[in-house]
Amino acid sequence: MFDYLIVGAGLFGATCARELTDAGKTCLVIDKRPHIAGNVYTEQIERIHVHKYGAHIFHTNNKQVWDYVQRFATFNRFTNSPVADYHGELYSLPFNMYTFNKMWGVVMPEEAAAKIEKQRKAAGITEPKNLEEQAISLVGTDIYEKLIKGYTQKQWGRPCNELPAFIIKRLPVRLTFDNNYFNALYQGIPIGGYTKMVANMLDGIGVQLGVDYLADKAKWDGMAEKVIFTGPIDAYFNYCLGNLEYRSVRFETEVLNKPNFQGNAAVNYTDAETPWTRIIEHKWFEFGKDENGNDLPKTVISREFSSEWKPGDEPYYPVNDEKNSNLYQAYKALAEKKPKVIFGGRLGEYKYYDMDQVIAAALKKVNELV
Ligand code: UDP
Repeated sequence: MFDYLIVGAGLFGATCARELTDAGKTCLVIDKRPHIAGNVYTEQIERIHVHKYGAHIFHTNNKQVWDYVQRFATFNRFTNSPVADYHGELYSLPFNMYTFNKMWGVVMPEEAAAKIEKQRKAAGITEPKNLEEQAISLVGTDIYEKLIKGYTQKQWGRPCNELPAFIIKRLPVRLTFDNNYFNALYQGIPIGGYTKMVANMLDGIGVQLGVDYLADKAKWDGMAEKVIFTGPIDAYFNYCLGNLEYRSVRFETEVLNKPNFQGNAAVNYTDAETPWTRIIEHKWFEFGKDENGNDLPKTVISREFSSEWKPGDEPYYPVNDEKNSNLYQAYKALAEKKPKVIFGGRLGEYKYYDMDQVIAAALKKVNELV
C-alpha cells in the first residue's frame, strides 16, 4: 500500500512525486507511455536532443520555480527568438521594432506606436472581445493579417473571432529591438535534455511505464491511499458529460544530411496555405553542438501539423473557449466529489499551463497535502 499513486510521469506528476517522497510519503508513479517526462520528453537522435512532443523552452519569472529546477538540471543560455515566414517574407518575433521596421519601414518607436494606433482606431475596437480584436488592438491590422490570422486559424482550427483573447496575450509587443520571445527573467534548456531532468526528479522513486490506469482503475486505486491524476479529466470520468475539446499535434520528423536547415530553432509559417504551423530545428536549442561541444554534421527537423483531437489522439492544447470552460467546470464539480483523487496539470485541470506554472501548481498542491 502506497500513500500516493501518481498517474502520469510528466512535470506535475514528477514534482508531486519528488516533494511527497521528500516529505516522507511513499509514492508509485505510473504512466501509459513507455517513457517518463510526459510531453517534455526528449530523445537523442544523431546526438541531438529531439523534443518529441513539441518544442519546450523553459522560462519563468518565478524565482522559487527557477531555483527548484536548478536542483535537477543545469540550464543553458538559450533565448527563444522565433522567425515568422509569411510567403517567404521573414519577420522577427515577438512583435518588436525589427518587425515594425520590416512591415512599415518605420525606424523610431514613436512612429511604430503611431502606426499601430492609427490601425487600431480605423478598426474601431475599444474593448477587445476575442482574439482577433485583441490582436488588432495590440499590433494593428497589417501584422494581424500577415503574422497572426493564418497561424492562429491553423493552430486552433477556429476563426480568430471565436477564440479567447488571452491566447494572444502570451506574446509580448515591444517598442524595442528585443527579440526575446518571452517576458521572463529566467530562461534556458536543460543541458542533457528534459528526460534526464525528469529522471533526476524521480530519482529513487518507483515508476511503472506502459500501464494504463484507466483500463484497470479499481486495481490501481486499491494500491494507494490517494491518487494524483494528471491525465485528461474528461477521460477519467469516461466522457460521461461529453468530451472536452483539445488540439492535437502531429509531428513529421526528418534527419537531414546537412548541418543547417533553417538557421534557427523555430520558424513559424504564418500564412494560411502552408499546412504546417512551424518547423523546429532541434540542434539550435543547444547552439548546434553536442554535449561535448562538437559541431554536428546532421540536423533533425520537425514539422508541426495541428489538428482537432479525436479519441485515440494525444491531447496537447485545451481549447479554453466558453463552451469548453463551462464543460470543464461541470467535470470539476464531479472531481470535487472524489476526495481520494487530486486532479492536476495541463490535462487534469484543462488549462493552457506553461512548464513553470505546472511546477508551481504542483508545489502548491503538495504544500496543501502535507
Ligand atoms: N501566434 C501567432 N503567430 C505566431 C505565433 C503565435 O498568431 O507566429 C499566436 C497563436 O494564436 C498562438 C498564440 O499566439 O496560438 C500563442 O503562441 P505561443 O507561441 O505562445 O504558443 P505555443 O508555443 O504554446 O504553441
